[in-house]
Amino acid sequence: MEVHDSIRERLELRFEELARRAKKIEADLRRKPNADSEERATEQENDSVLEELDISTLDELHDVQAALGRIEAGTYGICVRCGEPVDERRLEVLPYTGTCITCAS
Ligand SMILES: [Zn+2]
Repeated sequence: MEVHDSIRERLELRFEELARRAKKIEADLRRKPNADSEERATEQENDSVLEELDISTLDELHDVQAALGRIEAGTYGICVRCGEPVDERRLEVLPYTGTCITCAS
């Protein structure tokens, strides 16, 4: 399948954005604990939110990276499960998806 430059561009931009975000989240998570116990409790709450964010960011980062790899390999737009072409409208909405709508549901 021919891959539009715009899709590759979107994926590359997304990749950079996610990589930046992941770095920032990790820096926040590594922050020194606050000496004040009350503030520390709030920070721990924030940290669990950050950790969840971190996981979803890394998940998406991984998906975007895999999609870029499929573009390189020339298999982009082909479902990784069943080998059928993925609907272009689906790729438009989820450019990093590796599966067709049937396999995803
Ligand atoms: Zn499929």
